[in-house]
Parts: sequence; structure tokens; C-alpha cells
Amino acid sequence: MPDRLGPPLETPVFARLALIGLGLIGSSLARVARQKNLAGHITAIDASDAVRARAIELGLVDHVTGDVVEGVRDADAVILCVPVGVCGQVAKAMRSGLKRGAIISDVGSVKGSIVSQMAPHLPETVHFVPAHPVAGTEQSGPDAGFPTLFLNRWCILTPPEGQNADAIATIRAFWEGAGSMVEEMSPAHHDLVLAITSHLPHLIAYNIVGTAADLEAVTQSEVIKFSAGGFRDFTRIAASDPTMWRDVFLNNKEAVLEMLGRFTEDLSSLQRAIRYSDGEALFNHFTRTRAIRRSIIEIGQDSSAPDFGRQPKTDSPQ
Ligand code: NAP
Repeated sequence: MPDRLGPPLETPVFARLALIGLGLIGSSLARVARQKNLAGHITAIDASDAVRARAIELGLVDHVTGDVVEGVRDADAVILCVPVGVCGQVAKAMRSGLKRGAIISDVGSVKGSIVSQMAPHLPETVHFVPAHPVAGTEQSGPDAGFPTLFLNRWCILTPPEGQNADAIATIRAFWEGAGSMVEEMSPAHHDLVLAITSHLPHLIAYNIVGTAADLEAVTQSEVIKFSAGGFRDFTRIAASDPTMWRDVFLNNKEAVLEMLGRFTEDLSSLQRAIRYSDGEALFNHFTRTRAIRRSIIEIGQDSSAPDFGRQPKTDSPQ
């Protein structure tokens, strides 16, 4: 797969960019925006004193503030990189500072809820282009970010119908500049697709690690000591940020419950195959799933190299 992170742009996509929330995603965006000259000037706005202090120490952006209205003033683009559950209140708080013609976007892992939380607070004079970079790690905070996080990963845009085409093209250019491949779809379709590819796998990981921790017949130290590749991979996913994932499940209820229903039915049929020693059913199922893994590797979305537990700074689509 070609490396899309080429040389810095001659002209930045945005003269002035404001990033709200400087955690894993916000700080990765700040790093790549700096490295690739995607923005002429970057302001970071974060609610946390510690995060703001760290952003200054790391020299990630040009200006850091805790005041959202001051931070978004004069910005050509404002990208919310905060947990899904607070996007509505942040949109409401920043409203009075927004410049006419500014592009407002976000990186939330759920899209329908973001649109309904944010849209009512945005003035008609701005352009709203929600986005979700399908890239992440189980780490949080400004130290966890890195500039290649979005490289060769998909970024899904869910612009409202009739949204200004130039604004959509500009956000697309920004994400392509960060190394991503960009696709557009409706918020509802995004939420259904991500429910099965990301949200349900996280729920399963949280559940299996919790079940193992609660086992009485197997001690916790045995679970840790004998954690085979499969379980260890689940523990990595189950270490993901509790705030982020609480908000994902609370804000994509319908699609997750739909996928969970299908998952439970399919699990019952595997359970039945084991109970009745139906080796053919198990073999056929595992052969079909192995082919899916191979096609993910073929399209360059993962590597076949064994990397149980993953090394630091490797990314995983979320
Ligand atoms: P993170 O590392 O926890 O960073 C979020 C930052 O936002 C923190 O510094 C947090 O401060 C700050 N914040 C919280 N509420 C705020 C508010 N009201 N105003 C200003 N700042 C506020 O989270 P993240 O992993 O970057 O996730 C951010 C967003 O990206 C989420 O919507 C998530 O769904 C999406 N996303 C995440 C991933 C992933 O793998 N992590 C992947 C794709 C998309 P405190 O530390 O004080 O709370």
C-alpha cells in the first residue's frame, strides 16, 4: 500500500485550526498538522489543566487555552476531539465565538448522536462536516498521540444532506493530508457498520476479560500467567478508555443492540455445534472466518506478522 504521508503541503489546508480536546486523537492531529503543514496556526482547547500544561511542554500547538469561546475565535476550522457524550455541550459553549464560514467537524466514534447533539447549537453561518477517523489505540492523553496514527486508515465523513461542497472537499483534503483514505456515508449507516466492526468487538473484549477476572476456579495470577495470544489481544482492547467507550455504547444503543442480537444467535449455534460434536459445522465456520482475516490483510488494514499484545505506538482501527 502506498505511503500517503508525503512532504509538507506548500499551502496549509486551514490558515487557523482549533482542536478541542488534546488527547490521543487531538494530539495526533496536532502532530500531523504540524508535520504536514495542514494548518498555519493551531490552537488547542482542553478542559484539563494537566493536559494544557502538557501540551505546552510538548510544544504541540501555537496556543493553548481552557476558554472555548476565545479558542475558536478566528478559526477557519474547529475539530472536536472530545468524548462523544460532551460534544453537544461543547458545541453550545463555543457557539458565540464561531467565525462566519468556519468549518466545524469532530472525530467521534458515533455519528448519529453527534449530529443530533451538535447541529441544534450551530449557527447557519458555519458548515458542519462530521468525521470519524477509523484509527486509534487503547491509550489516552496527549503523550499517547503520534503523527502517523491516521496513515493508510479510513476516515468516514457524514455530512448532512445539502452541505456546502467546498467545506466537504476541504475536510477531505485535511484528512488526506493526514494520510487517510476518505469515504462518505450517512450517519445511520456509519453507526451500523461500526457497531459490528468496532463497538461489538470492544464489548466482547470487555466481557471476556471481566469473566476471566471473576472466575473462581482459576486464579487471577493464572489468567495473567497463561494468557495465550487470543486472551492477550482481548486484554489490549479491554484496556481502552472507559469514558470513551461508555459514551460509544450509550450513544449507539440501537445499532449495538441489533448486532448483539445477531451475535448471540450465532454464538448459540456454535454452542450447539460443540454440544453435538458437529465438527463439520465448526470447521466450515472457522474456514469462512479465516478468509475474512486474509482479505483484511490483503487490503493492507493489518499485517499477518504475529504481534500479540502489540508493541507501543502501533495502531488499531477503532
Ligand atoms: P482522550 O485521549 O481521553 O482525550 C480527550 C480529551 O478531551 C482529554 O484531554 C479530555 O480532558 C478532554 N475533554 C473532555 N471533555 C472536554 C470538554 N468538555 N472540553 C474540552 N476538553 C475536554 O480521548 P481520545 O481517545 O482522543 O478520543 C477523543 C474522541 O475521539 C472521542 O470522541 C472518540 O470517540 C474519538 N475516537 C477515538 C479513537 C480511539 O481509539 N481512542 C478512535 C477514533 C475516534 P480530561 O482528560 O480532563 O477528560
